[in-house]
Amino acid sequence: MTRAGVAILGATGSIGRSAVRVLKRHPERFAARALTAHSALDDLAKCAAALDVPWVGIVEPSGEVPAGWCQGPSVLTTAATLPGVDIVLNAVVGAAGLDATLAALGAGKRVALANKESLVVAGQLVMDAARAGQGSVVPVDSEHSAILQCLAGRPGTEVRRLILTASGGPFRTWDAERLRAATLADALQHPTWQMGRKITVDSATLANKAMEVIEAHFLFGVPYENIEVVVHPQSIVHSMVEFVDGSVLAQLGVPSMELPILYALTHPDRLDDTGVPRFDPVGASPLTFEPVRHDAFPALQLGVGAGRRGGAAPAVFNAANEQAVALFLDGRIQFGGIPLAISAALDALGGMPGSTRDQLMAADAAARDLVREHCRC
Ligand code: NAD
Ligand code: MG
Repeated sequence: MTRAGVAILGATGSIGRSAVRVLKRHPERFAARALTAHSALDDLAKCAAALDVPWVGIVEPSGEVPAGWCQGPSVLTTAATLPGVDIVLNAVVGAAGLDATLAALGAGKRVALANKESLVVAGQLVMDAARAGQGSVVPVDSEHSAILQCLAGRPGTEVRRLILTASGGPFRTWDAERLRAATLADALQHPTWQMGRKITVDSATLANKAMEVIEAHFLFGVPYENIEVVVHPQSIVHSMVEFVDGSVLAQLGVPSMELPILYALTHPDRLDDTGVPRFDPVGASPLTFEPVRHDAFPALQLGVGAGRRGGAAPAVFNAANEQAVALFLDGRIQFGGIPLAISAALDALGGMPGSTRDQLMAADAAARDLVREHCRC
């Protein structure tokens, strides 16, 4: 069997390191052909040694770059389009991952997409690039992997509703007053997933779930009014699809990202020997579901509203959120300042044009400036 060539963008992150483990476990199926990271040189060198990778690129190296490595802002798009790379696993965090997604799709690659921000910022452009370049987008996000598996290729006319599950994050039971002053340490205590800092904060505000609604809209072509979110604290049911006859399919599994990463690489096939503990229904019990408390987590409706509005609004939502989360991680604003900053940016800039990449990047830059100004402290 020929091995699929894989590039991992963002190899030193939470998803990237899980992907390195997945590739190491299946050397007969995958050949790692390229790895990138932003700046963590030593971590990237360890990943490269673990997989014996021929091409390594780093954006802003934290030290002296080993001979033969590439460096600079273009390493992501270069890695994403290398000959011999069949699958680009985009595990970069933030809008910084967009150009690599577009480049990979333009070059006809499969993009195993963890970088949901690509679809939030430029969902239409990404899906158009996939069609034009004959590439494909296969989600890594556990909810979307679940939906892909439940849909199993059935036509959209059979689908009534997508139901995305949300863990509810660390603040699921906190009231709005207590939430406004939540600390960084509180926000970084995710109950079920170990992830990078930005997505962990996004999970605490539910901005992550708004991004996932937008992601689902573009990936599966389902209108926003047919996408719902339900809180499921155990993170065992990864999402559900309701069909027109009222039948509901759900995909379940232990909360390990190695499963959706592997599935994004092999879809529609499956491999055994994942190394992930087997599912135990009794041990996982009880499985419970709750409504979202929209008053306590306004970022969800702000983001879904931006998705429905279209144009540059989702890019403004994303950029305002990225900037506000960066300020929160720096201790410069309170937790409750994140949705306030998003709301201010959407009010001022949500109507900007957003049909080209450059227009979207202009809206992104304007939103970041506005949030920095809004949160001047
Ligand atoms: P992380 O912060 O742990 O890792 C991010 C990676 O991206 C690092 O390798 C970093 O070097 C690289 N990177 C950061 N900024 C960059 C830039 N400007 N240019 C180039 N490279 C850059 O993040 P993560 O938790 O692994 O998440 C990665 C993506 O996957 C995010 O979009 C996140 O929403 C999504 N995702 C993550 C999880 C999870 O379990 N961690 C689950 C679902 C989806
Ligand atoms: Mg998810």
